[in-house]
Amino acid sequence: MPVVSLAKVVTSTAAAAGDFKVRIPFIYGKRLVSNRVSFGNSSRRSCIGHIVRSELQSSRVLGSVTDLAVDNSVENGHLPKGDSWAVHKFGGTCVGNSERIKDVADVVVKDDSERKLVVVSAMAKVTDMMYDLIHRAQSREDSYLSALDAVLEKHRATAVELLDGDELVRFLARLHDDINNLKAMLRAIYIAGHATESFSDFVVGHGELWSAQMLAAVVRKSGLDCTWMDARDVLVVIPTISNQVDPDFVESEKRLEKWFSQNSAKIIIATGFIASTPQNIPTTLKRDGSDFSAAIMGALFRSHQLTIWTDVDGVYSADPRKVSEAVVLKTLSYQEAWEMSYFGANVLHPRTIIPVMKYDIPIVIRNIFNLSAPGTMICQQIEDEDGYKLDAPVKGFATIDNLALVNVEGTGMAGVPGTASAIFSAVKEVGANVIMISQASSEHSVCFAVPEKEVKAVSEALNSRFRQALAGGRLSQIEIIPNCSILAAVGQKMASTPGVSATFFNALAKANINIRAIAQGCSEFNITVVVKREDCIRALRAVHSRFYLSRTTLAMGIIGPGLIGGTLLDQIRDQASVLKEEFKIDLRVIGITGSSKMLLSESGIDLSRWRELMKEEGETANMEKFTQYVKGNHFIPNSVMVDCTADADIASCYYDWLLRGLHVVTPNKKANSGPLDQYLKIRDLQRKSYTHYFYEATVGAGLPIISTLRGLLETGDKMLRIEGIFSGTLSYIFNNFVGTRSFSEVVAEAKQAGFTEPDPREDLSGTDVARKVTILARESGLKLDLESLPVQNLVPKPLQACASAEEFMEKLPQFDEELSKQRQEAEAAGEVLRYVGVVDAVEKKGTVELKRYKKDHPFAQLSGADNIIAFTTKRYKEQPLIVRGPGAGAQVTAGGIFSDILRLAFYLGAPS
Ligand code: ADP
Ligand code: ASP
Ligand code: MG
Repeated sequence: MPVVSLAKVVTSTAAAAGDFKVRIPFIYGKRLVSNRVSFGNSSRRSCIGHIVRSELQSSRVLGSVTDLAVDNSVENGHLPKGDSWAVHKFGGTCVGNSERIKDVADVVVKDDSERKLVVVSAMAKVTDMMYDLIHRAQSREDSYLSALDAVLEKHRATAVELLDGDELVRFLARLHDDINNLKAMLRAIYIAGHATESFSDFVVGHGELWSAQMLAAVVRKSGLDCTWMDARDVLVVIPTISNQVDPDFVESEKRLEKWFSQNSAKIIIATGFIASTPQNIPTTLKRDGSDFSAAIMGALFRSHQLTIWTDVDGVYSADPRKVSEAVVLKTLSYQEAWEMSYFGANVLHPRTIIPVMKYDIPIVIRNIFNLSAPGTMICQQIEDEDGYKLDAPVKGFATIDNLALVNVEGTGMAGVPGTASAIFSAVKEVGANVIMISQASSEHSVCFAVPEKEVKAVSEALNSRFRQALAGGRLSQIEIIPNCSILAAVGQKMASTPGVSATFFNALAKANINIRAIAQGCSEFNITVVVKREDCIRALRAVHSRFYLSRTTLAMGIIGPGLIGGTLLDQIRDQASVLKEEFKIDLRVIGITGSSKMLLSESGIDLSRWRELMKEEGETANMEKFTQYVKGNHFIPNSVMVDCTADADIASCYYDWLLRGLHVVTPNKKANSGPLDQYLKIRDLQRKSYTHYFYEATVGAGLPIISTLRGLLETGDKMLRIEGIFSGTLSYIFNNFVGTRSFSEVVAEAKQAGFTEPDPREDLSGTDVARKVTILARESGLKLDLESLPVQNLVPKPLQACASAEEFMEKLPQFDEELSKQRQEAEAAGEVLRYVGVVDAVEKKGTVELKRYKKDHPFAQLSGADNIIAFTTKRYKEQPLIVRGPGAGAQVTAGGIFSDILRLAFYLGAPS
């Protein structure tokens, strides 16, 4: 699908970012035009602000860029602005309880800046509790009273632990006053059954009022000059139609001057989150707005730095709760930080950047719980002397959940001016926030993402707006695709690095993730894709590991923990840590199933105890549930089914597995040697889908036979003939069928040594070899069926019907003569007998038979139970290419499967 994707992403950036150069893209018909605009001075800035505002008014971030210019004439007042000020902001988790508040006070006291302004959030969870009070009161639930008591008690208890004497008395008196006021207000809300926005803003802002007063009192305990600031006395903001607020810097600056003239102190503890309207009505900066408060304060004080303290070591390359391998970023540019926060990294409120960027004030994100971590520095981009940006092209990834895609489609849209405008003005009317837009260059469809909770209204508005166009067929549909998420890759250097988006999409494709829509803004700071919500974390992990070369994680379901499956599990157990550390491959067995029991674990089964766990915690085996479980994990990007059985029923599931996006690895010959049409169907599906199907161990266990064959064909060689001893058992028998020994004697010896199946007829019948020949023939491109293959059965006819293996072994000596005779004849001619499989690629046929070879032929030199396979090709015509080695046994077979699993990991992006 050719997509010219745009642009909300970038236009919003432009507007929000204020004072830097960006390109604002517009689509005119099929042409993409970009305007490079400098946001250098305030008149031009407000002009651009206006354009962008009218274009995209419903943006989550935009509102309007109300005069960012801070009038420098106010520099002359009482307030000493500039580098002497350090601004800190402490989030809710930093002030979650009395101990933490003490730690925060300690950090404030120890900062040796001359002057400090500290913005503080409400104690953790308090803002939620306050919103809950309103919810209960307006739903007329009497429990709002007990919930209010809980708020009172939380703060009372904290204050008692922190303060004493007059400070405590003063704080508690104010707290009780506030609670009484709140009680009256909530009562009014209860009676009205409704809370106006200003009522509710007034109520929810109390958490900050209390935490700021407590922190100020604790700082004063160390003898320092410290006062608290009710930010509603200083911060003036203007509500916008998109339910945002824009700071009024000029008015705020004036009020700050006035406030400071009455309250000058070297340490000020200010409330985050709350502010006033120009009419002095209490309001808030909306959820998580304390970061924004702090940034405005930083700008008002022209501080030398803004430090945002939180509960993580800095901005991570992805949300650390979703990607455990995420790394802390040392630096981010303002634009990168903005993109990350806008696209869901809630470590920073998106609006935090603009005010400080204007004065080039760096933001440092730090962890209050780990003071030794340096944190993340957000500032202008760091360049070396040649202007080369020193960073990785992609810095981080972020996601936004709970979105729906709206797709407006129709042939009547192409070339008709105003369609986009009509769509988005309808969206604006219902106040919905458009997060991303993408339009195919055919203009046949426009799709955009809105929050799920707004999609119903959007759909109704569009259907009503376009009723006529729908009826007349100019629009074919307005489709709503629910349960979507956005995944964004962010990095300023993407702009100058080709191939980034290819890598990004490749990682998604390999994780079998379907992309519903794409947008890349012209600034190239951001690539955004829309995926199904259930795929979101897998997608995030897949791209993160691709760019950060962290681990390729594979979720595995192992079917058949018998001799081979069990050996494989033990091999994985022994190798897991080396793979993780050295090869960055994280193999997680999340399910093991036998025929009666299965064991499941989302985080990975402890392989040092899998046998015990299987016995103790195993549940009744159920293949559908097992498949669902391995497929249904939403966290590990890639899942593989490893079939270690020899079961045809299990093999018949491969098609369905591949269809569901599960990769398949197996030593089971049944699928590839089974009915031709089913085999072709599997191969066809596998090639079309981005799934992998590996089966090296079906022929010659761990020997590189299939991969050698493929390597030859893929590089343009032509297969003429494949001839080999494919059965370890028959290899052993004929290698030892020498001198005066009889055939039955050697068979008995092989059985004794465990080289045969419990019933040696299964080996002697040649079916196993025939299956391998079928597999290799098909791999060489022949459409061969097992049934059409002539197979020489070494079980004498009369013994084929014997009831038991014992009876067969007992009677076998009666038939020794025939084979002895053949062997003697061969010997007389200087030859040996070997049981071989042949693929004749020229004649397009295969055979399985007992053949004679000269004593100097490589097949005659074999010992033990080795396999040997000779490939005669156009390139290897005089001397065939020979692969030889042990081709049976649990260790080597499991090794072959294991190496297929690793091959899969490399295909999926593990560093090789
Ligand atoms: P505070 O209460 O201090 O403002 P927040 O909860 O608002 O804290 O933000 C910090 C949280 O943001 C972290 O605990 C982390 O789980 C989450 N987060 C999401 N994305 C990122 C990211 N890319 N880097 C760091 N933290 C992130
Ligand atoms: N306390 C407010 C909230 O939880 C603001 C903030 O903490 O940033 O939304
Ligand atoms: Mg926050």
